Amino acid sequence: MGGVTKRRDSDSEGPQAMATNNGKHQVVVIGSGFGGLFGTKALKRADVEVTMVAKTTHHLFQPLLYQVATGILSQGEIAPPTREVLAKQKNAQVLLGTVTDIDLEARTVTHHVLGRETVSHYDSLIVAAGASQSYFGNDHFAEFAPGMKSIDDALELRGRIFGAFEMAENAARRGEPYDHLLTFVVVGAGPTGVEMAGQIAELAHKTLKHDFRSIDTKQARIILCDAAPQVLPPFGVKLGAKAKGELEKIGVEVQLGAMVTSVDERGLELKDKDGTIRRINSVAKIWAAGVQANPLGKTLSEQSGAPLDRAGRISVNPDLTLPGYPEVFVLGDMISLDNLPGVAQVAIQGAKYAAKEIDNRLKDKAPQKPFSYFDKGSMAIISKFRAVASVGKLKLNGSIAWLMWLGVHLIYLTGFKSRVGALLSWAITFIGNDRSERTVTEQQIFARQALERLNAGPQDLVSKPGEFDAKLEAKRAELEERAAEESRLTDEGQRGIHAES
Ligand SMILES: Cc1cc2nc3c(=O)[nH]c(=O)nc-3n(C[C@H](O)[C@H](O)[C@H](O)COP(=O)(O)OP(=O)(O)OC[C@H]3O[C@@H](n4cnc5c(N)ncnc54)[C@H](O)[C@@H]3O)c2cc1C
Repeated sequence: MGGVTKRRDSDSEGPQAMATNNGKHQVVVIGSGFGGLFGTKALKRADVEVTMVAKTTHHLFQPLLYQVATGILSQGEIAPPTREVLAKQKNAQVLLGTVTDIDLEARTVTHHVLGRETVSHYDSLIVAAGASQSYFGNDHFAEFAPGMKSIDDALELRGRIFGAFEMAENAARRGEPYDHLLTFVVVGAGPTGVEMAGQIAELAHKTLKHDFRSIDTKQARIILCDAAPQVLPPFGVKLGAKAKGELEKIGVEVQLGAMVTSVDERGLELKDKDGTIRRINSVAKIWAAGVQANPLGKTLSEQSGAPLDRAGRISVNPDLTLPGYPEVFVLGDMISLDNLPGVAQVAIQGAKYAAKEIDNRLKDKAPQKPFSYFDKGSMAIISKFRAVASVGKLKLNGSIAWLMWLGVHLIYLTGFKSRVGALLSWAITFIGNDRSERTVTEQQIFARQALERLNAGPQDLVSKPGEFDAKLEAKRAELEERAAEESRLTDEGQRGIHAES
């Protein structure tokens, strides 16, 4: 695999002018999320070679991350290996790597894994690198209030949530105050925040209620706060109010119009609408507010001149191509087009559209109509058998919405194994009140931060090829010197003789 650098097609020549080398058209796909994986799969029958480069080896079903964080699902159930998913797709190659640069003129993508650089050439490029958490300019909040974007995030949060109960049990045993350990704050009342707060409440009030001796987990406070005046803004006022009511019924304190102004190890400060600043003491805080598009958007913007919006999303043409570069498609959470929301369906439908366009061009077919997003609706689970769903004009809440949620998530989970696994884990949680994934390790909680403190992160632990040879040579010389000294001592009869006392 790996194509040859091609001339850039100008707008006037049109996309059909694209050249191919060595027989096969090279498509590089950045990302293995909804856009990247579905785009790669949609190219299955196209006469192309696809190289999918992503910084993880799995396809992550982000909507269920909160269930990993609260011990309902295992990470494997929501993150099947992309290599396995694509094993039968012979025209697709999977490469682990973090893309650090895209050269639109040379048509190359540069990616790294543990300090090793690889450059892949493309004829067509699909950029679907998603978004990361936004702390609205306060990135230092992340250390004390992790977001939820990756498996690492979810496992770290699982450690912090279950760990807080453990610390509280110890503090109670010592006769010390522990309210701050049993106060959980979720920042952001969108679907992720609502789902997270609901699950922590169920955990504290139901799952763990018989497991501790010195604390009563039912006394735990779960606070959901947001600067906005309502819960679940995209669902409309009525469903938002219903969701708020349901959350309060299961013991979540909903604090709206409250903006977080500072976060530290032991708590956070909030500014209410009337200007009052107040503090909540809480060790376990979860950030579920705001997203920022992947920085690769900036790379594309600098070279193409396409503007970025405030969330770092790049403006694309109605056919999802980068202005001036018809061979480059940008998808999903990275794009700013017609106010499309940052949801999985935008990425999936965009991916299928881009793949079809690439195939059409190779077959000299006419371009498709501009991309048009079909909104299949949104839903959020609040607690066991309680959810809200907004599908077109239909607004549902309660158990019917919950059943819809269950069906939709089963359909969209990738892979048979993940579906069966998730179904069994849901049975454990929803029929009983248990959680099958309560295991927490110290590494999950602390190792990531320790690695970040190393100069270059994980690659600090792995030497580059040249460096490794030099180190090996130095070690060999040291060993030879020591061996020579040993034999000199032996020859002089100094070995094995104890010094006389
Ligand atoms: C906690 C949470 C809950 C959500 N809930 C819902 C929901 O209920 N319903 C819904 O529709 N949507 C939901 N979303 C949003 C949805 O997950 C996103 O809109 C969707 O994942 C966007 O797809 P994408 O392909 O653009 O990006 P992603 O799916 O995020 O994929 C990005 C990919 O790019 C890779 N990547 C990133 N940077 C690089 C790089 N430099 N080099 C190589 N690879 C890179 C990542 O590893 C990943 O594979 C949720 C999101 C989160 C975080």
